Amino acid sequence: MSIKTNLLEIKKSIPENVTLVAVSKTKPVADLQQAYDAGQRIFGENKIQEMTEKSEKLPDDIQWHMIGHVQTNKVKYMAPFVHLIHGVDSLKLLVEIDKQAKKHNRIINCLLQVYIAKEETKFGLNEAEVLEIIHSDTFKNLQNIKVVGLMGMASFTDDTQTVKNEFTNLKNIFDYVKPYQLTNCSFEILSMGMSGDYKLAIECGSTMVRIGSSIFGTR
Ligand SMILES: *Cc1c(COP(=O)(O)O)cnc(C)c1O
Repeated sequence: MSIKTNLLEIKKSIPENVTLVAVSKTKPVADLQQAYDAGQRIFGENKIQEMTEKSEKLPDDIQWHMIGHVQTNKVKYMAPFVHLIHGVDSLKLLVEIDKQAKKHNRIINCLLQVYIAKEETKFGLNEAEVLEIIHSDTFKNLQNIKVVGLMGMASFTDDTQTVKNEFTNLKNIFDYVKPYQLTNCSFEILSMGMSGDYKLAIECGSTMVRIGSSIFGTR
């Protein structure tokens, strides 16, 4: 199956109100170009350097999403162009993103990553930590970032019920924080669901899915 065919099949299977992020990490620029030619404009990468290199070789109307874990000292490299950072898991990181965004006179959109899986290796905040960040004075003073939603990753398991419980948990946290609105904070996006579990994620309320291998093949 071609990248174009895969992409169109997936687009058909997701509702219009759900945004598709084509996860192109480790894939060559030629593969991204094929997806671009088939109409895709939102790409997700998990390494800042790789995303930066690809962004220089591909058209300017692509929205680049950083979906991986972000190290504070590398924010500066993506600050000029990144459209949405999915994996924000500390106030310290938000402060750095704000600082770098200011240098470029931009506002950078961010999602707070919530830890929902039962796996030690995954990053993220719990509900109390999300609330602590958005209610802090430091946060309220950040003018060059905007928190636009939450992101989470379910456990890597065939146990559908476990995955469903984790997604539902995240959706409940999302609904709980949604009424909280500031100039730099408005919970509109719920980023959850990958190749193996995106249909379930959408049933559980996802508004943004991050799909890699089902479009570009296994890595
Ligand atoms: C790699 C990755 C994806 C996509 O995974 P697939 O199983 O290939 O669809 C989604 N989200 C994050 C955070 C990832 O690192």
